[in-house]
Amino acid sequence: MITQASIQIIDNANMVHELDTLFKPKSIAIIGASSKELSIGNVVIKNLIHYNYTGKIYPINLKESEIRGIKAYPTIFDVPEDIDLAHVIIPSKFVPQIIEDCGKKGIKSVIINSAGFSEMGEEGIALQEAFLAKAKEYGVRIFGPNCQGIINANPEYNAYCDFTFTFPKPGSISIVALSGGVGAFIMQSLFDLDIGMRMYASNGNACDISISEVLKYYGEDEGTKAIILYTEGFRNPREFIEAAKLVAKKKPILAMKSGRTEEGAQAAASHTGSLAGVDIATELIFEKTGILSFNNEEDMCQAAMAFSTQPIPKGNRVGIITNTGGPAVIATDELVSVGLQLPPLSQKAINILKETQLPEATIGNPIDVVATGGGIHFRSALDVLMNEENIDSIFINFVTAPFTDTDEVARNIVEVNRLKRKPIICNFMTNLSIDRFQTTAKILKDGGVPCYSFPTTAAKALGALYKFQKVQTRNIGEPKKFTDIDSSLSLPKGNGTFLPSSDVFKILSAYGILVADWRIAKNTDEAILYANEIGFPVVIKAEASSLVHKSDLGGVAINIKNAGEVKLAVDRMKLKFKNEELKFLVQKFLPGGKELIVGVTAQKELEPLIMFGLGGIYVEVLKDVIFKLSPVTELEAEEMLSSIKASKLLDGVRGQSGVNKKSIIEIIQRISQLVNDFPQIKEMDLNPIMAFEDKTIVVDARIKI
Ligand code: ADP
Ligand code: MG
Repeated sequence: MITQASIQIIDNANMVHELDTLFKPKSIAIIGASSKELSIGNVVIKNLIHYNYTGKIYPINLKESEIRGIKAYPTIFDVPEDIDLAHVIIPSKFVPQIIEDCGKKGIKSVIINSAGFSEMGEEGIALQEAFLAKAKEYGVRIFGPNCQGIINANPEYNAYCDFTFTFPKPGSISIVALSGGVGAFIMQSLFDLDIGMRMYASNGNACDISISEVLKYYGEDEGTKAIILYTEGFRNPREFIEAAKLVAKKKPILAMKSGRTEEGAQAAASHTGSLAGVDIATELIFEKTGILSFNNEEDMCQAAMAFSTQPIPKGNRVGIITNTGGPAVIATDELVSVGLQLPPLSQKAINILKETQLPEATIGNPIDVVATGGGIHFRSALDVLMNEENIDSIFINFVTAPFTDTDEVARNIVEVNRLKRKPIICNFMTNLSIDRFQTTAKILKDGGVPCYSFPTTAAKALGALYKFQKVQTRNIGEPKKFTDIDSSLSLPKGNGTFLPSSDVFKILSAYGILVADWRIAKNTDEAILYANEIGFPVVIKAEASSLVHKSDLGGVAINIKNAGEVKLAVDRMKLKFKNEELKFLVQKFLPGGKELIVGVTAQKELEPLIMFGLGGIYVEVLKDVIFKLSPVTELEAEEMLSSIKASKLLDGVRGQSGVNKKSIIEIIQRISQLVNDFPQIKEMDLNPIMAFEDKTIVVDARIKI
């Protein structure tokens, strides 16, 4: 039965969010307001005034009665009205008391600009904990400390709660940055590109309000069309992944891969752990959640320009209109390399273009309207592409030929752009020191056409729009749960050692992974006995906990065909290793397979990374491997196979047969399940797994716990 009381009407537009007092403050107190021009306590007030803040400003200062022409109060308790937000700009030792005061005054959000906390060692950490305890007690949310603050460029607020110097015009891009320095220059870059901004947040030590929380807030903000994110790592990666997954489905999140050091990329070592590295984890988090990652801050800001004005294309088919040849070639190269296609035009389109274009024009894709082409020629080409069913986006190369009415061309582009049916990106080649062309540029800009001055830059921006379309439609599915697993399996707790091969092979078998038939022999007689049981030819491997790379040391003898050869191999290894606990792994010899690797490396505060690639003894040299964040779904495992450089090898080349991809995809998923079931696994390498036409079998494996 539905009772009256259980019916709730949720009115989204009027819903109050906990962070509203931070981002949409109706009144702000500046605790530590100062009359000194060159102080943060003065600059913050100056910025609020300069940006036409629409709410009330309350400078708090014990001695002054007025700061920058605004009435000041000795304490927040002297302010007669409610206060939404406070800036705290006082020495760190006074902060815990002030947070308590803020709580008592009913202030819900506080930006602590002051430094001297967790970034300063033990004493600072204690102070941070002290004010956090007060904040919790009184329900005050903390932004910072040691931070810049926030900006809300929405004219309803004009809240410039920050001490920086760039005053963005209102727009639809919101920024969240852990580093104030990077945040500020990104804001400046958007400003230079004449891109409007919506909100800005730079939260320094981020002791309470996290990047993830701000991200979710932007996700719910209707005025934010795209988000720029900058972080140098994740304090709580799982919380971030959850937030980013949610938001990235709704709107583009543009982020930069940072910490991509040469050292990281070149990390060459003997196992999966060092083939990975922290930087890879960040990239994989971006990939898993659908964040668009950029190689550099410039590409990211240029793409933001496209996202701020253009719709998302429905697919990867682009039509090019150009009035000059070469730049269209450069653009095409870049467009194709980011996965876009240039389909041929329909007969209907060709007929219309033949009638409407100049006789010298080239009819096709690209459509070359030639340099003498004017507004009507651009227009007919634009209309045709807008109506072409197999075109999803339009790329324009527009050089301002001195003998054409370039303003007329620009006006036509703008008119079509206003329809917002398909994204339009314009590579605009001109000389902006010439008045006439400045006017043309202004028409395009005011008309919301994203203009770039290099064909490659423009093409990359269109590529980013397309990438978001892929992200939105990509469904990696749920990780498979294999039920044919021996659930009696248990693993020792973990002490940083490698498990003996016998344990490793048993674990793999319990998880339904095929392992080459094996026995552990203590001496020559046992080795011969087992070799007979397994069936010749066999492989003999030296087995001792200290042996990691057996073949480097002569601990692997392959293609052993009879008892005599078994004895020879065993004797040789005994002589070589002189190890009391030395045993011998007798294994079925499996020649002719492709040697592949599947690896695992555990991460702090994050699910383990799974690696796949070309295996064998050259893995560190070739480094043709790919990582994914577990749990890995079937689709992701398929992507791993198809994205290694040598993926074509798996299909078979030059008369060689291909491998059974299905069985490899299954091994990857089973390993993903195994490491998620047993978090004590720190590292694991199946190297090699031998891939054949019909099946894939593990011949060597290590597990570190
Ligand atoms: P390690 O990695 O410790 O040096 P492996 O067991 O991986 O030792 O063996 C090294 C190489 O020997 C493998 O890359 C593979 O080429 C070959 N090999 C090992 N076991 C077999 C086997 N059972 N069948 C065929 N070749 C094998
Ligand atoms: Mg090996």
